[in-house]
Amino acid sequence: MFGQRLRHARRARGLTLAELGARVGRAASVLSLLENGRREPKLSLVEALAAALSVPPGELLRKQPPSRRAQLEIALADAQRDPAYADLGLPYLRAGARVPNDVLEHVVALQAELRRQRVKPTATPEEAREANVDLRAMMRERGNYFAPIEQAAAEALAAAGYAGGALSQGLLLSVVRHHGFSVKYVHDLPRSVRSVTDLRNRRIYLKQESLGMHTPRTVLLQTLGHFVLGHSAPLDFADFLRQRVEANYFAAAVLVPEEPAARFLREARDARSLSVEDLRDVFAVSYEMAAHRFTNLATHHLGLPCHFVKNDAGGIIYKAYENDGVVFPADEAGAIEGQRMCREWSGRQVFAAADRFSPLYQYSDTPSGTYWCVAFVDPGPERDFAITLGVPFEHSRWFRGRETVKRVTSACPDGECCQRPPARLAARWEGLAWPSARAHSHILSALPRGSFPGVDEADVYSFLEKHEQD
Ligand SMILES: [Zn+2]
Repeated sequence: MFGQRLRHARRARGLTLAELGARVGRAASVLSLLENGRREPKLSLVEALAAALSVPPGELLRKQPPSRRAQLEIALADAQRDPAYADLGLPYLRAGARVPNDVLEHVVALQAELRRQRVKPTATPEEAREANVDLRAMMRERGNYFAPIEQAAAEALAAAGYAGGALSQGLLLSVVRHHGFSVKYVHDLPRSVRSVTDLRNRRIYLKQESLGMHTPRTVLLQTLGHFVLGHSAPLDFADFLRQRVEANYFAAAVLVPEEPAARFLREARDARSLSVEDLRDVFAVSYEMAAHRFTNLATHHLGLPCHFVKNDAGGIIYKAYENDGVVFPADEAGAIEGQRMCREWSGRQVFAAADRFSPLYQYSDTPSGTYWCVAFVDPGPERDFAITLGVPFEHSRWFRGRETVKRVTSACPDGECCQRPPARLAARWEGLAWPSARAHSHILSALPRGSFPGVDEADVYSFLEKHEQD
């Protein structure tokens, strides 16, 4: 009952698990365990929680369920604070004793629908790009390191008895079970999702098949991440994006745990043989996850600034991060995704290499300095992507592959570098070429609608209905 009352009080105040956790100095995962009745709180924590929620401790410890009436009264008060409701210009409705429950039920249900209709998480491509730019700025500011998520991952691992090395399937399932979820592999998962979670029966449905870096283990941990980090249905596209980044971070932090990974990287640096390949192999993750995880830990633990890019064979950028001053191509709004990267950069050079599936090392002289980079092609189910990790020249000395003699010069974003055709060819072909463009259906071009963009709810509900009795 304590858990129910705690959740009731927290939700009534519109707090996420993470927000309440921050107020009492506990991880969201700990509060989630309390709310789900899987752990008994110490009295000191009850008092801290009660203070954080401004309720008497006795209120949280009462043995009765919070009443429907109480719930409705709180919901009505919340509703009237909502800007969309306030816009209606109605006088304040006090939920006095003479207002019957069914009236409250109606008002609260109408307001919920009002809120639902107002939610437009997908917005326009411009807004989506803007959200991406903001998110990247926030990641850059923190050196791409998120202490609360590292802590949540470390706690989840400790609770499951993790003792180092790559995460076994058995340990992975025990991390999931520890949070009260079971896992079921199915063949008929709706096409618009990577996983579906039945919150009534706390069961996560997955397909036993890899989608690029999204192996069944990463999808499972990303899904669990949403619950451990206390996410609720996204309010807008920026919220959706932030949640996705956090859930991905959580998955990476469980599969490549901070403490052993940081130790491994420090030793490799001291031996001057840092390499993304080794990180990938030791923790048995994809190259992309290893490179991305490297960016999480490199600045915080090794004091190394770095950059990360994911691009396709045509040089189109899908993901990018930097805190080392490298200048990515960007549109007027600052968006990098969807831009075409310099031909000289290693992420494009690797596609042209004789052995495209071995790491390519190179130095690139750019307008913002010289960088040492390693690029690797991660084969995907639909297309291959190049993953690049780079550091400023002076830090190359810690990396394996620093002895490479490949060196290029890039003047991008100056158009004379590689974005405009050479004058001789332009003179010969201008006006005499008619390319038929291939439509880019990727990333931010056409965003589907819904709280969970692009997810077919009808499919998802009938799927859950069908499997509930399995
Ligand atoms: Zn260029």
